[in-house]
Amino acid sequence: MNNEELQNPRPYRVFAIEQGTVIDHINAGQALKIIRILNLAEHNRVISIGLNFTSKSLKFKDIIKVENRELSTEEMNRVAIFAPHATINIIRDYKIHNKSKVEIPKIIDYVIVCPNPKCITNNDETFSKFNVISKNGQLKLKCHYCEKVFEEQNIREYKNN
Ligand code: ZN
Repeated sequence: MNNEELQNPRPYRVFAIEQGTVIDHINAGQALKIIRILNLAEHNRVISIGLNFTSKSLKFKDIIKVENRELSTEEMNRVAIFAPHATINIIRDYKIHNKSKVEIPKIIDYVIVCPNPKCITNNDETFSKFNVISKNGQLKLKCHYCEKVFEEQNIREYKNN
């Protein structure tokens, strides 16, 4: 248990898991996007989601617990686009096996659908590819093909697999 949970009157608002991944300190409102972009709901995996928990560092946060799946580093870094402050705990045998912070990736392949309807990636089989631009704490995504630049909140569609 971390300090935040110790001081919380209901320590386990989302129940503990035996094996899997806990994504914590997600900016409030972003959990559902992360579930979609990582395709976490596939294969009938059990997922617990907490929305708008109080948090010291973020004021409000979302939290996701995925059973029986450990995220890869590449997947963790995709989370950073939507939740740059997220911490990722890999759980084995109810204990934290590994704890890490996400890192903002330089490139995101495939999962994001380009919001530009005229983009080649929306009109043939070309997979999307975005360069991530980080400037003054603001993240923007530049399409490799149509070269248009989008803010994270303007990205609305994702490919699921
Ligand atoms: Zn594009």
